[in-house]
Amino acid sequence: MALLEKQHPNADTELHFTNAYELLVATILSAQCTDERVNQVTPALFQRYPNARALAQATTQDLEPQIQSTGFFRAKSRSLIGMATAVVERHAGHIPSTMEALVELPGVGRKTANVVLGHALGVPGLPVDRHVLRVANRIGIARGDDPELVEQQLGAAMRPKDWMRTSDTLILHGRRICRPRPLCDRCAVRARCDFFLSGKAAALNPALRGKARR
Ligand code: SF4
Repeated sequence: MALLEKQHPNADTELHFTNAYELLVATILSAQCTDERVNQVTPALFQRYPNARALAQATTQDLEPQIQSTGFFRAKSRSLIGMATAVVERHAGHIPSTMEALVELPGVGRKTANVVLGHALGVPGLPVDRHVLRVANRIGIARGDDPELVEQQLGAAMRPKDWMRTSDTLILHGRRICRPRPLCDRCAVRARCDFFLSGKAAALNPALRGKARR
C-alpha cells in the first residue's frame, strides 16, 4: 500500500459534496455511472433539494428527468426518495453515523455506507467496490470475491485511520493502471504482485509477455 500510495498520492473520492447528505445522494447516483457524470447532475439537484427533508417531498416524476443521464434513473429516484423519507422519519432528517443505521436506508449497501462514513462523517470506512476486489486479489493482499470478506481482510491488515485511503488508492489504481487489461509496465507494485509474477497478467495484456520474473 505504501508503494501504491506513492504512485497515487492524491487518491480521494472524485464525487463533489459538502456534507454527508450530499455525498450519500451522489454515491447512490454513482452506481453504474462515472463520478464525472454524477458531478454534472448534482449541483442543480442539491440546489433544488438541499437536504433530506426537501428530497423526501419530491416525487419520482420530479426527480427522474433530473437524474436521467446517470442511468437506472427510475430505480435511483425510488432509492433517493426512500432514503430521504427514512432519514426524516427515523433520524430527524440527519444522516446517521453508524454502519447499522445506514444500511437500513433504502438504496444504501455496505459500500455506499462506508463511503459516507469514511469521507463525510469521520468514521473509519473501507468501501470495497469492483476495483478494490480486482486489484487486492491480483496483488495478493486479499482473497475472495465477496466484498464483505475482502473488507474484513483489508480492514484487519490496515489501521482504521488508513482504511479510507487504502480504498481510495486501490480504486484509483484499478481505474488508471490495474484495469481489467492491466498496465503492469506502469505499476509500482509489479515486483510484488502475484498476478504479474505468475504470468496471468501477460495473458490479458500481450505487451507484458516474457516480463514476469520471480
Ligand atoms: S502488476 Fe499488473 S496486475 Fe499487478 S497490481 Fe500492478 S497492474 Fe495490477
